[in-house]
Amino acid sequence: MAEHIDKSRAAARYRAARDVKALRVSGWRKCWQHAALGASLAGLSGCAAGLRSASGWEQLTTEHFQIRTDVADVTARDLARLLEETRASLLALGWPRSKVPPSRTDVTIFAHRGAAADFLPGNASGVCVRQPPFANHIVFSLNGGRLPETVAHELSHDLSGWFMPIQPLWFAEGLATYLQSVRYDRDTGKATLGEVPAQIVRMERTYSREGVGVRALLDSEHHPEFTEQNQAFYVGSWLLVYHLLNEYDEPFGNFQMALKRFVPWRTAWDLEFGKIPTEQLDREMSAVLHNNSTRSVVIPETKFEPSVRALSVAETHGALARAAMIRVRDSRALIEREVERALALEPNELLALSARFYALPTTRNQRADLARRAVAGHPTQALSWLMLRETSADVGERDRASARAVQAEPFSGAARLARAEDKLATGHEVEALEDAVLGVRLTVPTARALHTYAIALSANRRCAEAESVAAAALSAASAVERGEWDRAKSSAEIWCSTHDYAGRPRLAPP
Ligand SMILES: [Zn+2]
Repeated sequence: MAEHIDKSRAAARYRAARDVKALRVSGWRKCWQHAALGASLAGLSGCAAGLRSASGWEQLTTEHFQIRTDVADVTARDLARLLEETRASLLALGWPRSKVPPSRTDVTIFAHRGAAADFLPGNASGVCVRQPPFANHIVFSLNGGRLPETVAHELSHDLSGWFMPIQPLWFAEGLATYLQSVRYDRDTGKATLGEVPAQIVRMERTYSREGVGVRALLDSEHHPEFTEQNQAFYVGSWLLVYHLLNEYDEPFGNFQMALKRFVPWRTAWDLEFGKIPTEQLDREMSAVLHNNSTRSVVIPETKFEPSVRALSVAETHGALARAAMIRVRDSRALIEREVERALALEPNELLALSARFYALPTTRNQRADLARRAVAGHPTQALSWLMLRETSADVGERDRASARAVQAEPFSGAARLARAEDKLATGHEVEALEDAVLGVRLTVPTARALHTYAIALSANRRCAEAESVAAAALSAASAVERGEWDRAKSSAEIWCSTHDYAGRPRLAPP
């Protein structure tokens, strides 16, 4: 639990880390300019061009996205470009001079709201789901030809997770809401950030009445449901991040640096902001809404040509089965329907096989059969090998399967974490750590992922870092998750207490 964190040691490590100026990551440098730019697809014609299958769906693959869509080809290509531009803008403004994440995101775009209604929860125009071993997945429907702001918001979560895998809730939502205002102007090549989002402006009056104070924001553990009343949480988080970026550049940069190094966020907060009463921040923040500051940067134009292919009818049903997995409830009938339609036409259709494997009840034999068919039909996809690995209890077989998964997709976080587990099981600690370092950044850091990372660090005799990772996970976890995170911490501690600093097992555990 949180009390277990050795604050003074963590603080000392953190101070040491903070002083390494060369490692400054955040790059949130001030660069204020007023600009009103917009990149939207408004005005694009809906005329279809190019190839289409009987299903009317196609798949576009770019450097960082795999898009499945039923929107007209010309629009789809433009959306693919806009997604890459949005990603490049977020990185250039948010993390300049940093190594960019090599991850790829899955995207499903519905041309019409009506067709998406079965898949998107409530009134949402778009959602993002992180369901390892699948790649992070953004699903949305076009909104009058525009990319919904949800897309930039969700993309921001993905990108910030690469730099800072463990984030407290207020910071994660505040940063994503701040970054969702990104705009890219193709004519000038200029990316701009920091306009007050329309959603925030609408909420301003409500916020001043029912605003969430800084103290409550910091203590928030649970994601509020996306309802009108709880918008106050998003407004408050946005306001706090926006204010810290503008007025506390240096300490807030240090704070982000600490998150990058897995310092428990409360420790970092206390060191950087501990002397400022939260009431003072509350007062300062109430003036922020009237101060509309933006920053912008020109990003180099990238040559861009997606590879495009028509999806077969079976593949389209597979893609819809996968999209149905994003629903929190009542998804089973929909997944079953799409899986059956896909497999009737193409018995080894991968997304349908994997939807049945991960989302529908199956027996052990059925799972083994699904995995075998996936590998037979799609040996170049990490997902096939990860399914096969899950059906085997044999250490050697699992190790071979995860190696094939990484070979197929070197930047699949799930594949990296699977191989890290297998390398640990077969006594290859150094390789395990290399995979775990990438794995926790490329996918959502679940308790299991952080557990693997902490053990890999301990096994490499990096006990202090292992402890810090586990403590950082605990400090950002909600009460529900804490038991799971705590397991990571105790495993790391047990490993370190039973092995000496040369990695040799101690004769008698202390
Ligand atoms: Zn969010």
